[in-house]
Amino acid sequence: MLSPSEPRYVRVVIDRAIHRELDYAVPETLAERVNIGSRLRVPFREKSALATVLALLDQSDAKGIRPIEAIVGEAPILTEQLLELAKWMAPYYCCPIETVIRSLLPQVVRKAEVGWKKQLFVQPAGEIASEEIEKLRRRAPRQAELLEVIKRLEQPVRATELLRQTALDNQTLRALVKRGLAQLREEAVPRDPHGDEQFVGTTSLGLNREQEAALREITSAFGSPENASPILLHGVTGSGKTEIYLQAIRSALDLGRTAIVLVPEISLTPQTVERFKGRFNDSPDIVAVLHSHLSEGERHDEWHKIHSGRARIVVGARSAVFAPLQNLGLIVVDEEHEGTYKQEEAPRYHARDVAVMRAKIEKCIILLGSATPSLESYHNATRGKYRLLNLTQRVDEGQMPLMRIVDLRQERRREKAAAILSEKLRSAIADRLEKREQTILFLNRRGFSTSLLCSNCGQACDCPNCSVGLTFHRHVARLNCHLCGHTAAVPKKCPSCGQDALIYVGFGTEKVEATVAHLFPSAAIRRMDADSMTRKEAYRETLRSFRAGQIDILVGTQMIAKGLHFPNVTLVGIINADLALHLPDFRAGERTFQLLTQVAGRAGRGETPGEVFVQTYTPFSPSIQFARHHDFAGYFEQELEFRERCDFPPFKHAILITIRCPHEARAKLSAETLRRRLKEALGPEFTLGEATPAPLEKLQGQFRFHILMRGQAIMRLSRLVRATLDKLPFPEDVAVAVDVDPYQLL
Ligand code: ADP
Ligand code: ZN
Repeated sequence: MLSPSEPRYVRVVIDRAIHRELDYAVPETLAERVNIGSRLRVPFREKSALATVLALLDQSDAKGIRPIEAIVGEAPILTEQLLELAKWMAPYYCCPIETVIRSLLPQVVRKAEVGWKKQLFVQPAGEIASEEIEKLRRRAPRQAELLEVIKRLEQPVRATELLRQTALDNQTLRALVKRGLAQLREEAVPRDPHGDEQFVGTTSLGLNREQEAALREITSAFGSPENASPILLHGVTGSGKTEIYLQAIRSALDLGRTAIVLVPEISLTPQTVERFKGRFNDSPDIVAVLHSHLSEGERHDEWHKIHSGRARIVVGARSAVFAPLQNLGLIVVDEEHEGTYKQEEAPRYHARDVAVMRAKIEKCIILLGSATPSLESYHNATRGKYRLLNLTQRVDEGQMPLMRIVDLRQERRREKAAAILSEKLRSAIADRLEKREQTILFLNRRGFSTSLLCSNCGQACDCPNCSVGLTFHRHVARLNCHLCGHTAAVPKKCPSCGQDALIYVGFGTEKVEATVAHLFPSAAIRRMDADSMTRKEAYRETLRSFRAGQIDILVGTQMIAKGLHFPNVTLVGIINADLALHLPDFRAGERTFQLLTQVAGRAGRGETPGEVFVQTYTPFSPSIQFARHHDFAGYFEQELEFRERCDFPPFKHAILITIRCPHEARAKLSAETLRRRLKEALGPEFTLGEATPAPLEKLQGQFRFHILMRGQAIMRLSRLVRATLDKLPFPEDVAVAVDVDPYQLL
């Protein structure tokens, strides 16, 4: 595209989705500063709107063209490469480019309402003579006292800090300023989310042979990144993948380039941040961290630190794939199989796939890492589309943990009631307590009891808005819906038949914690899940005490499954491996295999080998058996065969359309109408499923219907779906969501 240095017109998209690009004229006074990626204020209908420049034009055929109003910010806010990425994402993910651009920019940057945090700094106003202070002492002793301190300052200090140290007040300071003896200056102070932490510097470790070979492959690709294929680093848990990332990033920096490291939100722990900040301390701002717990102000500052080029490494969750780094040399996607890389609202992108595309556009190296690669990536590697690197050994020849399967059916026969902890797991815990080693107990379900049933009439206490039962939470003594947040008091009698016959069924982490506390009264036990970790500090604090050995048993949800490294944990108990296995989803088996392998990876990372107990009612399911033998290749082969037989990814792409409406009949009718139109539009090369009620039929008061499509040519399928939808008017209360490469089918 033509990029005249002083454009007469620009083509833009405004932030509000109007599904259209618009042309505006550029006044001569602004022409020099407008660029691709610039943010503008433009007149739109009767108001003004924020917009992003897509292209610079010499001429425009648009009628009634109006001039832009202003340029927002100094430099273009999006690079040309990021815009190119947006132009790929919009058709691929079947959504307007405005929606994509909205997710490319954090809200605080887009709205430009939050700025730098300014603070007042104090300094003396020129030389201050001692006589001046003495003269002041008689009339205003406190002013004199403060002036004495100011006179001795070697550099400006924060006003608040000065007043705190001297225990004097603002009025005294203002008086000095008024007398012309002190000066106040406003300066921007960065809000560094990790500013109060000290990071111990580290240097590159000597690599073992496998690591060395892998790193060599990666760094040699830096020589001709435009020809390099994506690299998949398959390394067992604890094989030192992170160390490879660190050294590969160092090579990128040495070549004058920058790097992005994506990690799943949940593993963006203080430990992770520390590893990157500790290794890269060339300058205080070199590592920027982006995640969802930042305040708006912190996000603003981190983003501008990146945009201005001061930060050269970005560590972050999903949306960090859009970090506006220039001269990108390397993108790392750690735990590339993780489902949290998929965004569940429009644009429903998968950060790993976007990262692969961004790397292609930026001509940089892309490195995907995992102990349990996704079927998609591993399939790409076996077909030669990706380059596969293996780390088969734990660092220092550490042993893989021993996996023991506990058949809960047998346990049940023996003990009648279903036990939360099997006999075997119980005695293993007792053994660890005796040896002063630590235990992790994992259950992917919060709360105390998962349902409240009437033993008389069989009615369950369900959420009024969703088709799921309410979970009993003992610490708040209420029933909660985990999907919509609905909460209710615990009824004394059955709401349906009035009998005093309610019983609690099923259990979550809260009950596991209570059971363990009951069995081992002297053990120090802590629970870690979304209920107990509502504050950020609680999370850090718990991890710190666990590491310090002040906790014997940690009970938790997936919050504890990922990326944590505790050398003294020698036992992991998986309370119920069947939870993930029986979801109505073609990825259920894959997820179970990944989860078991990852959780098991928490055990025995120190000197002592670890032991893992997997409690299950389906001990012979392939996911469990292959995980038990640490057999990724075997698992991959049999799962791949199943996917091929059923026409599922990685063989075919899928698109899932969800139609929802508060009225069931209207949802159904809309779904069926849409399905008919799709049938007319799609060719025979695409498979089109029936319009069916979603497995999760009702959510937040809305009835939900699904249409699933599959095919090879995903761009084409996306376009056809978009075109069909654009032609079909839906009733106002019907919402339609299109999910390309869906991760959840619920
Ligand atoms: P992974 O990311 O594969 O789970 P890590 O990179 O976290 O593995 O490595 C596990 C532990 O081993 C970390 O404490 C790391 O510092 C250490 N480690 C990694 N590589 C080496 C090495 N070559 N020599 C010694 N220790 C290492
Ligand atoms: Zn609900």
